[in-house]
Amino acid sequence: MNFAFAPAPIVSLEAMSSRPFPVRRIFCIGRNYPGPDGAAEKGTEPVFFMKPPGAIVQNNSTLPYPPGTEALVPEVEMVVALHKGGRNIPADRVDYDYVFGYAVGLDMTLRDALDAALEKGLPWEKAKAFDHSAACTAITPEFYAGNIASGLIELKVNGEVRQSGNVSDMLWKIPETVHYLSTRMELFPGDLIYTGTPGNAGPVKSGDVLEASVAGLEPLIITIA
Ligand code: MN
Repeated sequence: MNFAFAPAPIVSLEAMSSRPFPVRRIFCIGRNYPGPDGAAEKGTEPVFFMKPPGAIVQNNSTLPYPPGTEALVPEVEMVVALHKGGRNIPADRVDYDYVFGYAVGLDMTLRDALDAALEKGLPWEKAKAFDHSAACTAITPEFYAGNIASGLIELKVNGEVRQSGNVSDMLWKIPETVHYLSTRMELFPGDLIYTGTPGNAGPVKSGDVLEASVAGLEPLIITIA
């Protein structure tokens, strides 16, 4: 078909021995770990927001410092990649029927813009959905990933540990998160879900090297331009 202009290119992530994974949408879960910087307790339903697929930054690349902020804060998160969608997905079928694999992501956040939005009850896009706001590794297919229900999740900045936790501490586990999202809107193959972050890393600055890791998955190395 001839369009008025060239359609946007498909954003994809490498996936080891599999063919590349085409990214459809990016969901992000908020307040999904206990502690002072996360949620004190599990709420009645997960908090979520979205980023555009064009926000993806590939592993081992340089992330431009975004305009209009004094507080660029990285959040290390385990990322779930779906290869099957649907509505009202049963939680007990998520792991083997719907999950294509797992990755390590950074939910890049403008903390000053987020604090302002929270204070005024305004939308989060300015703080969360800006260009280059979703760094992500290649996807480790589910059959290579082993037991991902527990394991160290960590962020180092210039070699110093800034965030550390265990994915077993997620308040909303992956199966119930996927189930929940599928009750609110139809999910599709290619959807990514960032599953929340343990604690607050504090701001980063130009030249910093970020190393995000989740046990059993390829680490994510990002340099701030
Ligand atoms: Mn986050």
